[in-house]
Amino acid sequence: MITTIDNYDLSSRNTFAMKVKCGAFMEYTKADDIPFLLSTIRKDVEKFHIGAGSNLLFTRDFPGVVLHSAIKGFEIICKNPQEVIVRVGSGETMDDFIRWACDRELWGIENLSGIPGEVGASAVQNVGAYGTEACDAIVAVHAFDEVEREFVTFSKEDCRYAYRDSIFKKSDAKKRYIIHAVDYALTPLHSPNLSYPALKKAFEGKDVDSLSPNDIRAAVIATRDSKLPNPAVTPSAGSFFKNPVISEEHFKEICEKEGSDTAVPHYKVDSGYKIPAAWLIDKCGWKGYKEGNVAVWHLQPLVIVNPDRQALPEEVIGLEKKIIQSVNDRFNITLTPEVEHI
Ligand SMILES: Cc1cc2nc3c(=O)[nH]c(=O)nc-3n(C[C@H](O)[C@H](O)[C@H](O)COP(=O)(O)OP(=O)(O)OC[C@H]3O[C@@H](n4cnc5c(N)ncnc54)[C@H](O)[C@@H]3O)c2cc1C
Repeated sequence: MITTIDNYDLSSRNTFAMKVKCGAFMEYTKADDIPFLLSTIRKDVEKFHIGAGSNLLFTRDFPGVVLHSAIKGFEIICKNPQEVIVRVGSGETMDDFIRWACDRELWGIENLSGIPGEVGASAVQNVGAYGTEACDAIVAVHAFDEVEREFVTFSKEDCRYAYRDSIFKKSDAKKRYIIHAVDYALTPLHSPNLSYPALKKAFEGKDVDSLSPNDIRAAVIATRDSKLPNPAVTPSAGSFFKNPVISEEHFKEICEKEGSDTAVPHYKVDSGYKIPAAWLIDKCGWKGYKEGNVAVWHLQPLVIVNPDRQALPEEVIGLEKKIIQSVNDRFNITLTPEVEHI
């Protein structure tokens, strides 16, 4: 079924609660709806597909058509003692799927508990947290190719997953594929991933062999709740900036200025040193800063919030620019947004 609403208010469709409208909102409940739905939209009308709108900043009204999948359902398509492959509708809430898996003692995605958003977007974004990424469990992504006008299936390798990245984010593919289902491979075999230090600490002294996926889920959600704003209460789009990667020389310069290299949190990656953007922003004194209707979350400076649901997009952009400028002035690093600006 396809539902179309003209001149649609998107405030409840983006977790930043930006009060913006689109020319039309079209929601569909079956993969087979997609070709027909697309055929009804004029070629010169701009389209944008949203999930739960939890990684988006609408910078103004969107004159075109906003599409949304309401395709639901979990289908076990393969089951053996080692592996259970589940086909999940793109419009399912990712956390509902994770709860479903944990309740069935299926391992693989429990560390992603509490991440807002829908299953379709999880395959676009390659969501990640606490030492797990969606691509660790994704085995196939099913989409409609708007250019060739046919249904296609991507293997995990085809998706070219990297940190918060996939083929679906590349400019030539971005608006080409509409994802209608994602296959996740889970396992009934006991396999907690406690590689992330905060999680390891949460279970220190406990019998790891007796842990269930729901134990990990509960610990992950408790840790997230202690740091991140709940979008239902305090609107945001999560981490606003990406963690920058800098050269060794640049890293050493910063260490010298900060007094020692242990003072600068970092992860060594192939292309240099990844520095937590939260640390850079915190060092510039932004944590808890409030200006008009926008603020920097007092527990996590990487998150810009819209506490009273009154912020205008230009207020968010104004604060974003100031943060970028201050980090640039102090560290000579240009932060780039993680949140997609529409
Ligand atoms: C409080 C908070 C905490 C967060 N924590 C994390 C975290 O720990 N880790 C993490 O990785 N992310 C995190 N995020 C970011 C966000 O939850 C993820 O990026 C999530 O995958 C976005 O899902 P969504 O359904 O809201 O997608 P949207 O934000 O609506 O869309 C994201 C992208 O996916 C595309 N898209 C959506 N659905 C489809 C589809 N069916 N077909 C094709 N393209 C599609 C959109 O066009 C867009 O480009 C957080 C966000 C918030 C608000």
